[in-house]
Amino acid sequence: MDTQLEAKIVERGKEFFTSISGEAPSIFNKGWWTGKVMDWAMKNEDFKVQLFRFVDVFPYLNTSESLSRHIREYFSGDDHEVPSVLKWGAGKASFGGKLTAKIMEKTIRSNIENMGRQFIVGQNTKEAVKGLAKLRKEGFTFTVDLLGEATVSEEEADAYRDGYLEVLDAIAEEQSKWKAHAGNGGDPSMDWGYTPKVNVSIKPSALYSQAKPVDIEGSVQGIYKRLEPVYRKVIEMGAFLCIDMESLKYREITLELYRRLRSAQEFRHYPHLSIVLQAYLRCTEQDAEQLVQWARTEDLPIAVRLVKGAYWDMESVLAKQNNWDFPVWMHKPESDIAFERVAKILLENHDLVYFACGSHNIRSISATMEMAKAMNVPEERYEFQVLYGMAEPVRKGLLNVAGKVRLYCPYGDIIPGMAYLVRRLLENTANESFLRQSFADGAEVARLMENPQITLERELAARPEPKQEELVDGLPPFKNDAMIDFTIPRCRTAFPAAIKKVRETTGGTIPLFIDGKEVQTDDVIPTTNPADYSEKLADVCQAGTAEIDAALEAADKAFLTWRDTPAKERAECLLKAAEIARQRQYELSAWQVLEIGKQWDQAFHDVGEGIDFLEYYAREMLRLDKPRRMGRAPGEHNQLFYQPKGVAAVISPWNFPFAIAIGMCSAAIVTGNPVVYKPASISSRVGYNLVEIFREAGLPDGVFNYCPGRSSVMGDYLIEHPKVSMICFTGSMEVGLRIQNKASVVQAGQQQCKRVIAEMGGKNAIIIDDDADLDEAVLHVVYSAFAFQGQKCSACSRVIVLDPIYDRFIERLVAACEDINIGRAEDPENYMGPLADASCQKTVSEYITLAEQEGTILLKRKDIPAEGAYVPLTIVGDIKPEHRIAQEEIFGPVLAVMRAATFDEALDIANGTRFALTGGVFSRSPEHLEQARKEFRVGNLYLNRNNTGALVERQPFGGFKMSGVGSKTGGPDYLLQFLDPRVVTENTMRRGFAPIEEDDDWI
Ligand SMILES: Cc1cc2nc3c(=O)[nH]c(=O)nc-3n(C[C@H](O)[C@H](O)[C@H](O)COP(=O)(O)OP(=O)(O)OC[C@H]3O[C@@H](n4cnc5c(N)ncnc54)[C@H](O)[C@@H]3O)c2cc1C
Repeated sequence: MDTQLEAKIVERGKEFFTSISGEAPSIFNKGWWTGKVMDWAMKNEDFKVQLFRFVDVFPYLNTSESLSRHIREYFSGDDHEVPSVLKWGAGKASFGGKLTAKIMEKTIRSNIENMGRQFIVGQNTKEAVKGLAKLRKEGFTFTVDLLGEATVSEEEADAYRDGYLEVLDAIAEEQSKWKAHAGNGGDPSMDWGYTPKVNVSIKPSALYSQAKPVDIEGSVQGIYKRLEPVYRKVIEMGAFLCIDMESLKYREITLELYRRLRSAQEFRHYPHLSIVLQAYLRCTEQDAEQLVQWARTEDLPIAVRLVKGAYWDMESVLAKQNNWDFPVWMHKPESDIAFERVAKILLENHDLVYFACGSHNIRSISATMEMAKAMNVPEERYEFQVLYGMAEPVRKGLLNVAGKVRLYCPYGDIIPGMAYLVRRLLENTANESFLRQSFADGAEVARLMENPQITLERELAARPEPKQEELVDGLPPFKNDAMIDFTIPRCRTAFPAAIKKVRETTGGTIPLFIDGKEVQTDDVIPTTNPADYSEKLADVCQAGTAEIDAALEAADKAFLTWRDTPAKERAECLLKAAEIARQRQYELSAWQVLEIGKQWDQAFHDVGEGIDFLEYYAREMLRLDKPRRMGRAPGEHNQLFYQPKGVAAVISPWNFPFAIAIGMCSAAIVTGNPVVYKPASISSRVGYNLVEIFREAGLPDGVFNYCPGRSSVMGDYLIEHPKVSMICFTGSMEVGLRIQNKASVVQAGQQQCKRVIAEMGGKNAIIIDDDADLDEAVLHVVYSAFAFQGQKCSACSRVIVLDPIYDRFIERLVAACEDINIGRAEDPENYMGPLADASCQKTVSEYITLAEQEGTILLKRKDIPAEGAYVPLTIVGDIKPEHRIAQEEIFGPVLAVMRAATFDEALDIANGTRFALTGGVFSRSPEHLEQARKEFRVGNLYLNRNNTGALVERQPFGGFKMSGVGSKTGGPDYLLQFLDPRVVTENTMRRGFAPIEEDDDWI
C-alpha cells in the first residue's frame, strides 16, 4: 500500500464530505414520501421485498380495481391495515369506506409515479430534451439512455434503434443552442474544451432479440447491424457514444462489438466511443489489460467507463442456482479494491484511454482523483459520472471539487422505467451501499474512507470459519450437475470438437448386449440424423424373441447374486458410471445433437440429468438400505427393510434418450433388479452409450442387457414375459395404457404381480394473468413451447391468457416467434431444429392441419429447411377447451392460445384435460399464485418461470391422471417402487427378561 497516496485519498474524501455536510440524497429525505418509505424498507426486510415487487407490477395496474386488489394483497398484514407509511400524504382522515380507499389509492399511485420520475429525465423525447437542457443550465453534462423493455423480437429491436435515432434528431436541433461548458481542453465549441456536448449510452442487447452467449458471432453481427446507423448519426452530430455493459451473458459480445465498431474502417477516425467495464466481475482486470493491449496494437484511442456493476444480486443468485463459480466478487470491499486497481490500469494508459469514473462512492472517487494527480494525468483525460436522481450531494460535491460531472439520464416509458427504478432502489437500500451507509446509516467518515483492503481483512477475520461439508454415508451431499455456461469459451468450443469426433465414429453396426456379451443379429435398422437423413449414424441390431429370451434368462440368473450384493457396491457402480458420463459429457451430448436434433444446451442438460439420476439414486439406495426399527414396544423387535422385486423391463423414449433411459435403468439396478433395456429405435445409438458406460463401470454380466428391437416383433413379448417383474416405461399414453393392460394378465409360470411405472405425457398449460410481467412471460412461453421443438412431455402446448392482457401478450409472443432461427441443431444460432424423425413430422403436420380447421392461425413459419424432419412453428388462436388441439398431446411445436375472462376460468380450462403433468402461471398477484398452488392440479407446477427442465432432487418430476402412474423420478419416493418392503418381528423376551434398547425411554 502506498501510504502517502493513501493519506491523500482519505484527506480528499474528508474534504469532499465537508463540502457537502448536512446534505442527503432526496431518496433518503424523510420529509418526503420516498424517503419515509425507503427508511421503513431499510428497517423491515419483508416490507422491502413487498414494496419492490409492488413497484415492479405497478405499471400494469391500470384499473382502480386491480390497483386496490394489489395494494391489499401486497401490504395488508394480519390487521388488514395498509402500513401508514405507504398511505402518507393521503390526508389525516382515518380510513374506511370507498371514498377514503379511493383517496389512498390515488395517493399511492401518484407517490410511486413521482418516485419513478425522480430517476428518469423524461417520459418522451420532448420531455427528455427539455430535461437535459435544464441540467446543462445547472452546470452538468449528460449521457442520455433510452429505457427499453426486454427485446423479444426484431420488431422491438427496430423500435429501440428508431427511438435512439429520434432522440438524436431532437437533440441535434437543440445542441447548437447549448453553450459549451468552459474548461481547459482548448476547443471552445466542446464541453470542458474537449468533449462532445451530446453523449449517448446504449444497451446493446436491446438491439438484437436473438443475442446469446452460445452464438457470439451471430449476436455481434445482429447488434452491429442496428448500432451502425445510430453510430453514424452520433458521428454526424459530433457526439459521443457509450456502449453499456449488461449482465455477464452479454460481456463477451459487448467487448467484441466495441472492438469491431471502434476499428471498422468507416469509424476508425472517430475517437468518441466508449465501453463500460464492471469492477465487480473477477475477470475485469484482465479484460481491461487486454483492451488496452488491443488498443495499442490497433493504435486506436479508446474510452472506458468504469463502474462496479448493476447486476450483482442477479449474477450471484444465478451462479448459485446453476452450480457455477461466482463470476463476481463476493465481498463488497473486493469490488472496491478491484475498482481502484482497474482505475489505476486505465489511468496509467491515459495517453490512449479516456477514463470515466462511474461511482457514487466518495472513497472510489477520491482514489481516482488522487491516483490521477499522482500520475499527472491531464484533466482532459478523465471525468466523473453519476446516475441522475441518485446521490445529489455527490454530484454537487463533484461539481465543487472536480468542476465537472456527467449525469447518466435515462428517459422513456413508465413500464421499463419501473424495472430501472427497482434496480436503483435495490442499489440504494442494500446494506453494502456506500450511499446508504453514508447518508442513511450515518457511518463514520473515517470508516467510509478506509482502504478497502483493510476493510476486507477485518471482515474476513470476523467471519466464522466456513462449515465443513458433512458426509452422509461417506458421500458429500447430492449436488446437481452444473448447467452449461456458454460465457466460458471452453464450453462453446467443446461442442463442435465433440460433434466432429463423434462423426468420425459413425457408420458402424451396433450390437445387442446380453449377459455381458455383444450379440449381432441379421436384422438391423439404420439410425439417421433427422436434419439430414443421408447421414447414417449406425446400423443397429434388432432383438427378436430369441434374444429377449436370452436377455431375460441372463437377467434372471444375475438377479440371484445382484440382489444380495451389498447396496454400497451397487451404489458405487452408479457413482462410477456418473463419473464416466461426466468425463464424456460433451461427446455424449454430441450424439444427441446428431441423432435426435437436440440443441447444444438441451443435449448437455439431458446428459447432466442422467448424471444426476446416477448420483442421486446411489445416495437414495444407501438411505433406504438401513433397516428401520418400527414401533417402540419392549420385548419385541420389529424391523422393516426392502428387497428388490426382480427383473425389470425398461422401455424408454427418444426425447430424453440418455437421461430418462439411464434414470430408469439405474433406479432398477441400484435397488438390485437386473434390467432388460429397450431404447426407442430412433435414439438407439444414444441408448448404446449406456452399454459403454455400464460396462466400464463394471456391472456384472446379465445385470444390464441392451435390446433394441421392433415393437411389433418383441414389444408385447417382453411385457408379457413371465420372467419380467416390473416394467418401467416412459412414452405415449396409448402405449402406457396398453402396457398396463398387458401386464395385468398373469402368464403361465409367472411368479408375481407385475408392477408398472408409466410416465405418459401431458397437455400442459401456462396461464398468463393480467398483471404478468410480459418481458418474462413471452420469453419463458417461447422456451417452454418451442425449445427442443416442443418435444418434451413437460412442454407447454396451451397458453391461457387473461382477457385484459391478451392482445399485448399475443402480439409480442407472435413477433418473438417470427424471429427465432430454425435450422440444424448443431448450429448454435438456431433455436429450433428438426423433429425426431419423419414419422413425428407426419403426425405433427396432421395436427397443424387440424389446428387450421379448429382455430385461427396466428403464426405458421414457412421458412423452414426443405430437407429433414422440420415442421412449421405454429401458434393457433381461437381455440376452445373442447377442441382436439386443446385436448390431445401433440409432441411438436404447436401452441394453442386460449382466452379466459377470469383467473378462475383460466384454472378451469387448465385443469380441463385428462392429463396432469406440468403447468405454469405468470402472475404478480400473491392471491392468484396461492390459488394456483392449491387448485392447478398438476404434478409439477411452475410459478413465474418456464415449465420444463425439472431438476433431480430439487424438482422431483411426474404427473397423475392420464399423465402416469408411479411416483416422481428424481424424488425421495422413486426407488421404493422398485422394492418390496418386508418386516421381521422377533420376540426378544426370554423368561420375562427383555433387553433394553439404547433409546428406550420408558424405563
Ligand atoms: C454513469 C453510470 C453509468 C453506469 N453504467 C452501468 C453499466 O453500463 N453497467 C452496469 O452494470 N452498471 C452501470 N452503472 C451502475 C453501477 O454499476 C452502480 O451504480 C454501481 O455499481 C454502484 O456503485 P458505487 O460505486 O456507486 O457504490 P458502492 O455502494 O460503493 O458499491 C455498490 C456496488 O458494489 C457491488 N457490490 C454490492 N454488494 C457486493 C458484495 N457483497 N460483494 C461484491 N460486490 C458487491 C455492486 O456492484 C454494487 O452495485 C452505472 C453507474 C453510473 C454512475
